[in-house]
Order: sequence, then structure tokens, then C-alpha cells
Amino acid sequence: MRKITLAFLVVLLVSAALFAQEKPPAASQPAMLYTPSLDVNSMDRSADPCVDFYQYSCGGWKKTNSIPPDESSWSVYAKLYEDNLNFLRSILDEAARHPERDAVTQKIGDFYGACMDESAVEERGLSAVQPDLDAIAKLESTRQITPLLTRLQFAYGRTILFEQGSTQDPDNSEQQIAAVDRGGLGLPDRDYYLKEDAKSKETRQRYLEHVEKVFALMGETPESAKQDAATVMRMETALAKAQLTRVDRRDPYKLKHKMKVADLERLAPEIAWKTYYQELHYPEFQIVNVAEPEYFKQVNQELANEPLANWKRYLRFHVVDSSSPYLSSKFADENFDFYRKYLRGAKEQQARWKRCVEWTDRDLGEALGQVYVQKVFSPELKASTLAMVRGIEDAMGQRIRELDWMSPETKQQALTKLAAIRNKIGYPDKWRDYSSVMIARQDFAGDVERASEFERRRDINKVGQPVDHGEWDMSPPTVNAYYNDEMNDINFPAGVLQPPLYDAKMDDAPNYGDTGGTIGHELTHGFDDEGSQFDAHGNLRNWWTKADRAKFEARTQCVQDQYAQYIAIDDIHINSKLTLGEDVADLGGEILAYIAWKDATKDKQLAPIDGLTPDQRFFVGFAQWACSNDRDEELRLRAATDPHSPPQYRVNGVVVNMPEFSKAFSCKVGQPMVKPEDKVCKVW
Ligand SMILES: [Zn+2]
Repeated sequence: MRKITLAFLVVLLVSAALFAQEKPPAASQPAMLYTPSLDVNSMDRSADPCVDFYQYSCGGWKKTNSIPPDESSWSVYAKLYEDNLNFLRSILDEAARHPERDAVTQKIGDFYGACMDESAVEERGLSAVQPDLDAIAKLESTRQITPLLTRLQFAYGRTILFEQGSTQDPDNSEQQIAAVDRGGLGLPDRDYYLKEDAKSKETRQRYLEHVEKVFALMGETPESAKQDAATVMRMETALAKAQLTRVDRRDPYKLKHKMKVADLERLAPEIAWKTYYQELHYPEFQIVNVAEPEYFKQVNQELANEPLANWKRYLRFHVVDSSSPYLSSKFADENFDFYRKYLRGAKEQQARWKRCVEWTDRDLGEALGQVYVQKVFSPELKASTLAMVRGIEDAMGQRIRELDWMSPETKQQALTKLAAIRNKIGYPDKWRDYSSVMIARQDFAGDVERASEFERRRDINKVGQPVDHGEWDMSPPTVNAYYNDEMNDINFPAGVLQPPLYDAKMDDAPNYGDTGGTIGHELTHGFDDEGSQFDAHGNLRNWWTKADRAKFEARTQCVQDQYAQYIAIDDIHINSKLTLGEDVADLGGEILAYIAWKDATKDKQLAPIDGLTPDQRFFVGFAQWACSNDRDEELRLRAATDPHSPPQYRVNGVVVNMPEFSKAFSCKVGQPMVKPEDKVCKVW
């Protein structure tokens, strides 16, 4: 992915099912705001492009775009997403009010309306989740946890001990199988529980206080809230110890453990797996992939050793913590204080409408997206962006054929994989049908639970079925893009193909530099250190000769060593084993975009504009996608969890490896943006 915008929202998987041909509401919404894709006012022409190209391209932007108090970072991407939210808000305000509505409009309007009805949310308070808290209170033995888990995981997601659902069979990517994966933590990563530096210790202390406050808000006395928080912390720490690191999880072989349910029973006998799957009404299946067997051994040990009373504390906390954003203000405020204010540095809670639009997009995204697409994504825009995608793919083919270090056998395999990539542009061909999700105007927390249940059910129902290649993991208004290893497809929601990222009014140079680079980035993911382990069908199968793989790894090592030198924040270096795939994709993407741009404009007479040559416009256009201001807390959190490098390195780290750049700006060896020729990293 090019960028993570919604790191802490529960990202529900999206898929396509038929949404009957119902008409969206008559369009009376305002148009989207226009910002040009290359904005000379965003530059800092007093900076030397050969010393700090990011500052040269984005210095003006950084100066005039301070971080809004309700945000933890502010960027070109975030600004576009906010424009989208404003636009969607007008659709939803209308949908919530409209008396005569079709089914789609009714669904999104009622969801949004329930969210905006703060007095109803306030009045319901904790009672919205009381039935589940009662069910936890009634548990009589740890064996009874299993059937209750099924209900809680459906409604509250991954922090309830572990994740379950369907996945593509890593050996047969056309088939969906059952899967279980780790989960269970309230902090963003296992490392938060285990690292011994002062900041990690401080964060644990603050988390402990947060857990304590949540128990106090549930009505516990200060003493018992304190004790219960310590218990939750101890249990989560034990779970965290058994989890793989994020770097380990980039190795797909470390996540592949296919087994029968009987094997899972032996691995973690404290969970009654047969009952579990019966309760969840799974379709019949033979094989389940257990991503992290060591984690499930640990869960088993905890279930065997922790008294039932402690499990009740753990479950109570996670039910309330997961649903706090949708409960009354005292819960929502405490959730904000810890997760967004302390961990990410935001100063103020986001306006209610903003949260409500985001949640509607998250939970009913393919209903809301229909209206969005109709307004902002014309057939012409689809055609022109698809043409650009094809141009970049041609560049990749040309690049593979010309590589001087790869044998013809491996080249053939790489070209086969390239040819098999599916291009998904704008929005799904078939819309998901949410008609079975019950939405109540007076019960917002319940609406969120039911939307989550719908999604879990939809996911489970895929087990045993062939893979649906039309499925999307992002909603159309999302300002982001992704490549999926097992689908071998690239996906560009309509939201990321808008100005200033893709700008039909602008010349080709900045468009190729920016969106062309994003397309090349996603394409390169199929061939980065991780994606390259999957074949044309998305199966985990080696298609490299041994010698070529070794040469490839030496080349990715060059990138890893380069980024390891960069500082993310304070004294924290980039964990370049974690960011390697993204760094390789950033570099490959820009090289491909440059080739495709040259090819697309070979018959055109290009002239300087605004004092920038066409080549300079390509590179400034590229850099300006990444203009950003970030709070220190946000940078710290991302350094621990985000596979992407900080924005300035996603620009400067790329151009130092492109001789085309130093030529465009007449930079000389010895200047910071120029590497000596023998140090330049080139993977693709
Ligand atoms: Zn990426």
C-alpha cells in the first residue's frame, strides 16, 4: 500500500456481492474541491533540490498546512480524504433526512443518522453492550468461554483473543480455506509489551491507566479497577510474548501451517474447536491454516492456567474498549485520550460528523461508494487511468526483458506473472449487498456490531468456495491503493485517482510522477522481497533459479542498508527489514513511471512550465504526493508498526537512486541527493 491513513480503525474486509440495480439519490451534492497536481506554491525554491529534494518540493506546503488539532498528521493524502469526507457528508446528511428513499439510501442514511444522534447514544450509555457483559458474568467455567467467544469475536473483532475467518489457500490460490490468526492485544503491537526502553515503559504505564479508567467507567471501585487493569496487562503480556514480530510476519512461509481441525484440537485443546466451528455455522471444511501455532499454544496455556475470574476481566475490558468509540461520550473520550491523543498526538477529538462519515464508509462502504463513484469517477477518467496502468505494465515488461542480471528462465517466469496481474480500477463491478444488515436509528453501537457480524458472516461463508476475483479490500472513496499477493491484482479506488494525485487538467509529467509512480509502486509489490515469493496464480511457490534469487537478494539488501541509516524520530532508526517491501516498491514504481512517461510523450514537444523543465515537473509531481506534517507521537507509532518509511525518505530515498533525477536538476556527486554510481541501488 502506498499509504496508511486509517491505522487504527478496524478495517473490515470488503467483498462483492450483488447490490440490486437500485438508484442512488438524485445528485444535488457539491463538487469536489480542486487542487492542482503540481502546485508551485507548495515548493520551497530557496531550498537546493540537490541537498533536500523533499524540502524543495514540499517546503511551501509544509509551511502553510499545519496539522489540524484533531489530526495526528496532515498530508496531501489526508487532505484529499478530508475533502472526500466533506463530500460524503452532504450525501449522508441528505440520505438521513430524505423521507422517500430507496434501500441503499435508507441503509446509509439510517446508519449515519443513528451515529449523529448523540442524545440517543448518550442515553444508551453502556447498556448498548450490556447483554454481552451479562453473558460474560454468567460464565461458569473456562470451557464455556469457547461458545461465548464466537459471539464476541463476531461483534467486537480481533482483540477478543484471536482472529478467525477465511483465507486463500497458499498452495491453491483459487480456493478459500478456514484460517485462524493471532489477536488479543489492546496496544498496537507485541513490542509495546516487551521492549525495555524508557518510552516503552511509559507507554505501558499509560495503557495500564487507560485500562483502569475503562474499568472505573464501568462502575468499579478505584481499587478493583486498578487490580483488574494489572490482570489484563499481565494476560496480554503473556499473549504478546508468543506473537511473531512484524518483520517475521513478512515471511509468508512463517504464516503457513495448514492442518486439520483434529490437529488444532491437539495444539490448543482448551478451546473446544468442534463446538466453536459448529456454533459459528462454518461451511464444512477439511483444512484450517493456523498462522501462528505458537500463539495458539500460548492461548491454550493461558486458558489452562488463568482462573475464570481473570478471563471475565479480560473479556469485559475488550468488549468495552472495542466498542468505546460508539458508546456515550465518557467512553469515547477516554478512548480518544489514550489511542489518538497519547499514542498519536492528536490534540482534539474529531468532530462527530467526521467520525460518523468514516464509520459509514468503513461499514457500508460499497453502498456509500456507489453514490461517490457516480459523482467523481466518469468513464473517461476510468479509461485514462486504465491506459496509464497499461503503460506502466508495458514499462515493467520492457524492464524485465532488459535486466542484465537475470537469467532468461527467471525472466520468463516474471513476465508470466506480470501478464497475469489483474487491474482493478475505481470500484467493483458488482456491489456488495447489505440488505440483510439491520440498522436501527436509536442504537448506533448495535448498528456497528451488526455491520461487523455481517462482515464476519460473509467472510466465513467463503470457506470452501472458489475465490472471487472481483472482491475489493478498500471502499471506493478510500485515498489509498494496494497490491494483493494471493490475488495477484492491483487495486486503485476512485478516491486515489482524483486531483491533486491524478489531475486530468495537468500535463503528463506530474501525473506520471505522482499517480504513475503509485501504479508502478503497486505493480512492483508483486516483485518485492515478499511478493516475489508468490507465482502468477498467487500461489506460494518459488519460480526463481537459485542464482537469480541470490542476486535479487543482494539488490534488495542494498535498499535495506540504505534505509537503515535514516532516522524516523529522535534516535529511532527506520526498521528497514520491516519497510523493505515498500522501499523497493517506491523505487521500482518511480523508475517504471519514468519509462512509461517517456514512452507516452515520445512524439510530443514538451516545454518548460512555471520555470520547471518537463523532467523537473515529473520529479516535483512525484515528490508532492508525499508532502506531510506529522506529530512526533505519530512518527514514533509508525516507526514501530508501519511498513512504510516516513514521507521525506519515500522521496529522497528514491531520487538518490535515479540518475535521471540528478541529470534533471544538474546535481553533482558529493551532494546529498546523489550517490556515487557504484552505490546506486537498483532492483527492478
Ligand atoms: Zn505499498
